[in-house]
Formats: sequence, structure tokens, C-alpha cells
Amino acid sequence: MSKLVLGCIADDFTGATDLANNLVRAGMRVVQAIGVPEGPLDADVDAVVVALKSRTIAPAEAIAQSLEAWRWLQSQGAKQIYFKYCSTFDSTPQGNIGPVAEALMDAMGCDFTIATPAFPDNKRTVFKGYLFAGDVLLNESGMQNHPLTPMTDPNLVRVLQAQCTRKVELVDYAVVARGAAAIEERIAQLKAEGVSIAIVDAVSNDDLLRMGPALAKMPLVTAGSGVAIGLPANFGLAPSSQASELPRAGGKSAVVSGSCSLATNRQVLDFIQRGGAALAIDPLRIAAGVDVAAEALAWAAPLIDKGPVLVYSTAEAGAVKSVQGRLGVEEAGAMVERTIAAIARGLVERGVHRLVVAGGETSGACVQALGIAQMQIGPQIDPGVPWCHARSEAAPEAGLHIALKSGNFGSDDFFTKAFTVLA
Ligand code: ADP
Repeated sequence: MSKLVLGCIADDFTGATDLANNLVRAGMRVVQAIGVPEGPLDADVDAVVVALKSRTIAPAEAIAQSLEAWRWLQSQGAKQIYFKYCSTFDSTPQGNIGPVAEALMDAMGCDFTIATPAFPDNKRTVFKGYLFAGDVLLNESGMQNHPLTPMTDPNLVRVLQAQCTRKVELVDYAVVARGAAAIEERIAQLKAEGVSIAIVDAVSNDDLLRMGPALAKMPLVTAGSGVAIGLPANFGLAPSSQASELPRAGGKSAVVSGSCSLATNRQVLDFIQRGGAALAIDPLRIAAGVDVAAEALAWAAPLIDKGPVLVYSTAEAGAVKSVQGRLGVEEAGAMVERTIAAIARGLVERGVHRLVVAGGETSGACVQALGIAQMQIGPQIDPGVPWCHARSEAAPEAGLHIALKSGNFGSDDFFTKAFTVLA
């Protein structure tokens, strides 16, 4: 019988890892599944995070996928469901946070849930229902210009109410500060007033830890990754080194990077300045029909015995714009992703069993090319980025250790530090 207690549904891939990482740090053994698994759970864990890609798809499709994930989690014995979205509450006026939360409430026969994206470790705080990113309100943080989910209203009660048919209200900071009993009392009062969903304030991890016990009997919790730190204790679990234990790491090491974020540009530079073996790949040569993946694998072959190698398409904004101008934004992105994914697969087939991938979309492409269906979450390298262990079609016996770093995460020395953490 599985001892699964917490079943999580995440609306994107790197967000799923972020949640899994927080649960592990709070004492749970966790696997992340890439999409809804086809068979029964094949791991001895306390929580499963099902990673969907449902943040910006049509609401009806997001609901269908989320319900499919819920049905699977329920069939595996999950006692509580956690719907995870972004800590900047990324959504459109149509959804998908409200519609998915309400569909899960309908399916589960659940009369009340909370919604809080607060993640103080990453400077996302909620005060009087207003979401702050760093020192500024959400709508002044740059999120007002997001290409897919522009966030122009920082008041989450208003934002979520616009997406919901149920009544949305607030559990404010003063209540949270008084602890779990006060939160439960406020929830009972809201329920009596016909409210079904409450935004809950949190400006510190202490707030999230006070919130935890008040959520113990709630069948469904909806939140960013922050609320996760207060839940494992409800199941008698405390932080421990066993939670992040992975099989022993072995094999050769490599980094592939398709992220062009400022942080990743610094990380590539740092790796090169430390004398690491690095190869830049040129999108225009891929477009010209050169087999850049084969070239990169031939370059890496004599080097991977000596230490980590880095293959990267990472470039600064001006260079990326110029390539996009010549090839088209999507075309350039897809071409580079395919090439890096082929290189990742080739490296693993050649004995690289410790692999760092930089870039959210790039990670998705690599995980797919490596035939990975599920990852066990291990120790954290930097906030939001843990080492994971996965079975892979490309490493059928030992599997591999893999770290997926979304663009702006990680310190400058990340590509060096990552391998030290694993050792
Ligand atoms: P991040 O997490 O930093 O956003 P992603 O992998 O999600 O990184 O996105 C980066 C996108 O940019 C990918 O589609 C990738 O293929 C593309 N890309 C990478 N390098 C280049 C380049 N030199 N020129 C143009 N596009 C690139």
C-alpha cells in the first residue's frame, strides 16, 4: 500500500520542481511526474507533484487535464490535494486559477479552500490581499507587461473573484498573526457568510508555518509553492536528510544551456573563466543544415572524462534578437531546443549521468528527449533548483542525476557548485 499523503497538481514544469523542492525541504519524500502517469505510482513517497503545462491553455482544457491528474492522485491514495500555480498569480481574466480551483472543488465536493501565492523566500508576499513582488506591487513589477498573462491588478480578491462563480474573500494579516485557531475561526465565519475561497495573507515563512495546521483538514489547498512548507508537519513529517536522499551519483558530468537570461549568461561566463571546457552553438549554423549536435558530441567525447563540459546556445539579448530577426522567434527557439535536447541525449548515451540543464523550455525538451517520465527530488543546489534522479531511456541501467534550472535561478557559480553539492 502506498503511503502517499499529498497529491499535487502544478500548472507548469519548473513550478512543479519548485513545489517539490519545498516539500522535500520540509521533510517529504517526493517524486515529480511529467504529465499524468499512465500506470500506478512506482515509488515509495509521501507526495507526488504532477507537472502539467496548463497555465495559459484554454480554461476548459486546463480543467480537463487537472481533473485527470486529480483522479489519478486520488486513485493512488492521496489524502489532500494541492493545486500549485505561480507566485505571481499568472493568469488571464478567464483563468486558469479560478476555473481549475472551482472544478476541483466541484469534483471533490469541497466547500472551502484557500488561495495564496505568497513565497517570502522569493520575495512574493501578500498583505491585505495585495500581492507584492519584491518591494513593489505586482502591477508595478514588470508582470503588467507579461506577454501571456499580464497582471494589472495587485488585489488578489478582485483578480480571483473575476475568475470565479463562488464568493472570494480575505483572511488578513492580523488574523494570520494570531495563529491557526484564529485562522480556523475566520474561515468558519467566512463559510457562514457564504464565502467559498479565501486569499490568505502571508509576509513571512512564520505566517506560512502558522497557516499549516489550519489547513490540516482542508481536502484542497490552492497556492504557490510557499504554503508547502507548513503542510508536511500535519502528516507527522519533519525536515530530515532522508527526505532528499537519492541513489549514489556516478558517471560523467555535463551542462547544457539554452537559457538566455541574465543569470544564465553570468553562469556561462563564470564557468568559462574558471577554465571549464565550453562549446558555444550557433543557431544560424543549425538553420543552415549543419549537424551541430553531432559536432558538439564529437567535441565533447575526449573531454567528458576530465570534468564537466558545457554546451550552450546562451547569448546576450542583442545576439538573440538578431538571430530571431533572421529565423523568427518560435522557429529559432524550437530549432535550438531540438539541438540541445539531442546533445543532452547523446551525452547521456556516452556516459554522462550527472546533467545540469539551464532553461525552462530547454528543460522540457531535454526531459522529453531523454524519455524521463518521473523524477525523484533530492538535495537543493540553490533556491528552487534541486538535484533529481530519474530513469531514462538513454541510461536504462543506472538512470541519471539531473538538475533543471529555470532561467533566472541560481548563483553565478551554479554550473560548478551543482556538481560539488552532488559529491
Ligand atoms: P529561460 O528559462 O531562461 O526562459 P528557456 O529555455 O525557457 O530559458 O527559453 C529560452 C529560449 O530561447 C528557448 O526556446 C531556446 O531554444 C531559445 N534560444 C536559446 N539560445 C538562443 C539563441 N542563441 N538565439 C535564439 N534563441 C535562443
